Amino acid sequence: MRHNWKIWGGSLLLIALIGGAVAWRQAVTRTAPATTTETTRGTHAATASSATVTRTRATTWQTLKHPLKLPILMYHSISHGNQLRVPAAQFRREMVYLKRHHYRTLTTQEAIRALTTNTVPQKKVVWITLDDAYRDNLTRALPILKETHLHATINVITGFTHKANHLSLAEMRAMRRTGTVDFASHTVQHLDLNALTAAQQRQELVASKRWLDHHLDQNTRLLCYPAGRANATTRKLAKAAGYQLALTTQEGVAQLKQGRYNLARLRITPGMTTATFAALVNVTNS
Ligand SMILES: [Zn+2]
Repeated sequence: MRHNWKIWGGSLLLIALIGGAVAWRQAVTRTAPATTTETTRGTHAATASSATVTRTRATTWQTLKHPLKLPILMYHSISHGNQLRVPAAQFRREMVYLKRHHYRTLTTQEAIRALTTNTVPQKKVVWITLDDAYRDNLTRALPILKETHLHATINVITGFTHKANHLSLAEMRAMRRTGTVDFASHTVQHLDLNALTAAQQRQELVASKRWLDHHLDQNTRLLCYPAGRANATTRKLAKAAGYQLALTTQEGVAQLKQGRYNLARLRITPGMTTATFAALVNVTNS
């Protein structure tokens, strides 16, 4: 009997110790990200895992008096050759500019929250999007985003993931693990949606969402229209498919009054000067 009590007592002590250690670890993980990326520069903020934690940290979001104006930057390939391709050196200068000027880059989830509730984690916010999921987003954009601790959203053409110059599923999964990017739908085949029948449109919207939801184990909430083409039917179908926002290529700063499924973006073109870039993202929210 005495012997049993010793075992019980020992076990309870062990449980208490383990419990204490777990609680302590949780407390540490909770408090560590409370410091901002700016102030923890160099040390532990440099690791991918803490970057993820930093991004998901509980921040007090403030309600704006005036409707949020959100600059959504539109990039495609990070390379050179045509008007849709921005060279890595330029992309780097732009990301460094955002970092130095203390912009907060939103994730898709944060952008939805910001636009739909008119709240922000801080007043200088920007949302970086890269369309088409080119492979250079991994080789050229990701290292720059990691280095500057910024976040971007990549809009995937789910029927193109087997193509050599596009990201494969394995690459997307690895990229997402860094906490630096998230993925949204850019449909299955990148067709002009407004030229399709409603049934064809539905297929493009639903099948791409299903593919991303399944393969990336997520609820895909953002849709980006190929070439920005959409009509009233597209917008209705986007909502019915479960998307919460959709992006166009209409030039401008995004505002909810444009419509949740009709948001404008700012096209970043090759050769754009940093001064022009700075003027584009310089939006005052109050
Ligand atoms: Zn596209």
